Amino acid sequence: MNHTKSEQLHAEALEHIVGGVNSPSRSYKAVGGGAPVVMVRGKGAYFWDVDGNRYIDYLAAYGPIVTGHGHPHIAKAIAHAAETGVLFGTPTEHEIKFAKMLKEAIPTLDKVRFNNSGTEAVMTCVRVARAFTGRTKIIKFAGCYHGHFDQVLVAAGSGPATLGSPDSAGVPHAVATEVITVPFNNQEQFTLAMEKWGNDVAGILIEPIVGNFGIVEPHKGFLEHVHALAKEYGALTIHDEVITAFRFHYGAAHTMLGLTPDLVAMGKVIGGGLPIGAYGGRKEVMETVAPLGPAYQAGTMAGNPASMQAGIACLEVLQQPGIYEEMDRLGALLEEGILAAAKKHNVTITLNRLKGAFAIYFTDVKVENYEQAENTDGEKFGRFFKLMLSQGINLAPSKYEAWFLTTEHTEADVEETLKAVDYAFSQL
Ligand code: PLP
Repeated sequence: MNHTKSEQLHAEALEHIVGGVNSPSRSYKAVGGGAPVVMVRGKGAYFWDVDGNRYIDYLAAYGPIVTGHGHPHIAKAIAHAAETGVLFGTPTEHEIKFAKMLKEAIPTLDKVRFNNSGTEAVMTCVRVARAFTGRTKIIKFAGCYHGHFDQVLVAAGSGPATLGSPDSAGVPHAVATEVITVPFNNQEQFTLAMEKWGNDVAGILIEPIVGNFGIVEPHKGFLEHVHALAKEYGALTIHDEVITAFRFHYGAAHTMLGLTPDLVAMGKVIGGGLPIGAYGGRKEVMETVAPLGPAYQAGTMAGNPASMQAGIACLEVLQQPGIYEEMDRLGALLEEGILAAAKKHNVTITLNRLKGAFAIYFTDVKVENYEQAENTDGEKFGRFFKLMLSQGINLAPSKYEAWFLTTEHTEADVEETLKAVDYAFSQL
């Protein structure tokens, strides 16, 4: 497969754009380097690069593209917005319609507010939790990504009783000391952290199903324990559903898990591919937000008619019967085929899958927390990634990212993918 034009464009991009990419995860740094493939066009489950190569897309833009590229229903909605006005700076009917759709699908949302990214949505939830409780500390779980604002770019201290330290240059130490990071799926460490800090904790940030070190489901009872202790200490539960909302079923992951968070942050899928974030939750908590309450959050682009109409159209597609069942079915075929190929070629992997999202780990350990994901073979993943790319299968260039199916993938795509996996495993 020839990547000459991608390489030339990347060299040019390096002259003008920091690192040649507009988000660090797009670089191939984590998979042994090289020029990231430059895409020109997408349709359904495929996209094409500047050299004319076609790829089956399992990146799905890190989650949002659940209905594939250029879905006609969403394209029509975006075209309508382009023709009738993409931004007014006034209320529109679209945002009311969309808010109602989200509330119908996710019963824990008494009130919602739209903004422009997952980062903004989570950041505001943290502020609202602090405003509502009058406390400052936040607990989060190791390896869960919640965007790129200061409070969540904090690494774990040496144990649950230790405060965090900055994970990025530019994050003040004073901010990091407001954040406590504990291992996911570790009830004991969470309890210890709450015993030490519980009365100062404003909110507990949770990815109810982790999508940032592969796909990791909570142990039975773990999140129930987190919720119970949050209630006991008067801290709010903030579910970060930026990846999970509308990914596994028509609604939120917490509904599937039978949990009732105080606040929910969303993004990705709900924008139909356009920039979006949204947060919502319990009425009393949401009424802390301006103009009703003292917690400020705003946005020139928030609730813009283009993102609203694309989001509505995307949810309309996802309402069609059988959509999630089919992604689950194809996910199961991929899981079965990948495990069989690994066995055939004696490649050690484990695989976590929930419906149409899954992750392959080069390890013999079932991954249930970040430390286990960290200890998987990144060098082998890097080689696997490149072998797949060279056969027209596009994965996220990181051992921590999931594969995402879309409504447009077919059994023929699965077969083509499994052939590529078979060859890649034979070469590892
Ligand atoms: N929360 C989670 C769980 C995410 O996976 C991400 C992005 O990957 C974010 C928040 C941040 O969203 P955005 O990149 O739209 O700011």
